Amino acid sequence: MRKEVSSVRNPKIDEIFRVAKDEERNFLYEHEAKKLFSLYEMPVTKIHVAETEDDAVKAANKIGYPIVLKIVSPQILHKSDAGGVILGVEDDQGIRDGFNMIIKNAKVYNANAEITGILVQEMAPKGTEIIVGSTTDPTFGPTLMFGLGGIFVEILKDVSFRVAPIDIIDATEMIEEIKAVKILDGARGMPPSHKPTLAEILYKTSNMLMECPEIKELDMNPILAYPDTALIVDARIIM
Ligand code: ADP
Ligand code: MG
Repeated sequence: MRKEVSSVRNPKIDEIFRVAKDEERNFLYEHEAKKLFSLYEMPVTKIHVAETEDDAVKAANKIGYPIVLKIVSPQILHKSDAGGVILGVEDDQGIRDGFNMIIKNAKVYNANAEITGILVQEMAPKGTEIIVGSTTDPTFGPTLMFGLGGIFVEILKDVSFRVAPIDIIDATEMIEEIKAVKILDGARGMPPSHKPTLAEILYKTSNMLMECPEIKELDMNPILAYPDTALIVDARIIM
């Protein structure tokens, strides 16, 4: 008898996409995308979706202050545009105020916005902003992009591209290829960024894209890089 090829996807991955499809969403919430990344062993912030103020306070204490609060709504893809991100919350009262403020802001932004919950997450320390993205090319399939955040991507277009799948050497080359690579090496007294972690994120994202044809577009913006590691602090996935 022929042996089965062991290319069965983790059922937890199927579940994430199934929930989104059942709710007729064409995108994954940030927390769903981060759960997906965790299944590929990529580093993400600690998260909890709270439905009540009390639940948010409990989660904040479990995660530890300072905390970031964000809107979770099927109608809101760009959270800051909707006043849906509050950084650096320091205490329980701040969680309660922030919880209500975000809901208020969301309603002002879009009166029809449904609120799924409030995402409570660990506040990542300051680091070098990195962006990893992907789009699906009609001819070549999933394509990966790497760059530094802010003006480097938006104004200087200093990015590198590869068609997936890539191996860890390709990933390293993608990083070395950008013009601003010296910033990652710690030029001008900037703290260096841990390239091996960034290469691993690129490589694992490539694996994920190959296993998840549901992903049409992906955006990790930003990833914060540190001398010894990196952390994905925001994520968007379009299906
Ligand atoms: P948007 O949906 O508007 O892109 P983000 O989740 O990216 O929302 O949040 C906006 C900005 O807030 C980010 O670009 C980042 O600078 C900061 N930020 C978001 N989450 C965190 C976090 N967990 N720790 C530190 N900074 C964060
Ligand atoms: Mg973002």
